[in-house]
Amino acid sequence: ETKEVKVLLLENVNETGVDILRGQGYQVETVKSSLSENELIERISDIHVIGIRSKTKLTARVLNAAKNLLVIGCFCIGTNQVDLKTAASHGIAVFNSPFSNSRSVAELTLAEIVALARQLGDRSMELHKGIWNKVSAGCWEVRGKTLGIVGYGHIGSQLSVLAESFGLSVIYYDVIPLMGLGTAKQVDSLKTLLSSSDFVSLHVPELAETKGMIGAEELAAMRDGSYLINNARGSVVDIPALVNAIRSGKLAGAAIDVYPHEPAGNGPYFNAQALDTWASDLQTLPNVLLTPHVGGSTEEAQSAIGVEVGHALVRYVNEGSTQGAVNMPEVNLRSLTMDEPDHARVIFIHKNVPGVLRNVNKVLENHNVDKQMTDSRGDVAYLMADVSGVTQEEMKTLYQSLEDLQSRIRTRILY
Ligand code: NAD
Repeated sequence: ETKEVKVLLLENVNETGVDILRGQGYQVETVKSSLSENELIERISDIHVIGIRSKTKLTARVLNAAKNLLVIGCFCIGTNQVDLKTAASHGIAVFNSPFSNSRSVAELTLAEIVALARQLGDRSMELHKGIWNKVSAGCWEVRGKTLGIVGYGHIGSQLSVLAESFGLSVIYYDVIPLMGLGTAKQVDSLKTLLSSSDFVSLHVPELAETKGMIGAEELAAMRDGSYLINNARGSVVDIPALVNAIRSGKLAGAAIDVYPHEPAGNGPYFNAQALDTWASDLQTLPNVLLTPHVGGSTEEAQSAIGVEVGHALVRYVNEGSTQGAVNMPEVNLRSLTMDEPDHARVIFIHKNVPGVLRNVNKVLENHNVDKQMTDSRGDVAYLMADVSGVTQEEMKTLYQSLEDLQSRIRTRILY
């Protein structure tokens, strides 16, 4: 019956993802570009799975027309192009790929540590202009220097391993206690980290607490002649304060990949944006590496995104697992007994209101429930139950009884 699963993949989704879905026997149609709202409304009604990247907007109007849609795969990091709340209210799960480019960001950061220590950006720019400027003053090896990592998550911890094998000592600061990899040591405050590091690299998410996390005071707390790297989010660093810290010679350099305002497409930017006057300030500073949000932009990350999202879609369609979903509670039951003839997995997505479980358990009461799990997120709750001792006929009745419950958003029975 997997042949009946209709998949529409837009925006040139990576081949790795297409192969995973085709490998399941699903009917997969691929389109190179994105589609407009009206085109989507026309085509989406019989689609079960849609895969998009950042350009396709899945609005409430599109989702209202998506009568058979089970799941959305965003083959990218962001999910703002999807109306997540409306999707959840229709029982449509949304998946993305937040961590498939961690290694790419960590590698870029390591490269920047060496590039800053050796003023590589400036030497290269000079020679592009025909200037031979062989200098060793202010250029350093990184061996034996201290790297301070702020945010020891997927990227921070990868960077930790790479930096240690390069001969740096690593310290890190995080809001939660985490086991250091290798000989990396956690410090108890941001201030301690700033005053003990030759390089400070930021790898925290964009949150209210991380907004402006590095401002004038924090820059003043850093070691003289140290370096700052921001490959996290543009809101984390106060750029005018950073400009001052470099102008005054307090910092010996910086690498910036992310900005408070980033353009939607490629092309001339910095000089055209009157709003960001600091942008032209940054351009004039020595030993400042500026990159256009390319930290995670590699071929490997693209193919890892295809694999990560492809697998998440298959697991949702075949097993109902919402692990990693961005708009639904995360529910998963380990072993699948669905292959056995009288076993079934019942999935009941419902409004998060009082009394639902009592009604569901009434429907299930004559069957053996091997396992059951339920969780809620906002207005939506997700129940998964593995039942045995059910005939095909009983399965139909069971399905209909759940469909008849007032709280129902969507019922699925996998067997
Ligand atoms: P993650 O969630 O795995 O790790 C983030 C870590 O930061 C966690 O350990 C968390 O506990 C910690 N943290 C949260 N708030 C903190 C605070 N106030 N102080 C200290 N630590 C705090 O995230 P990740 O995948 O490692 O990504 C980190 C950042 O990198 C994110 O902002 C992400 O958007 C950004 N990123 C940028 C690029 C790029 O292209 N430049 C690519 C991918 C990710």
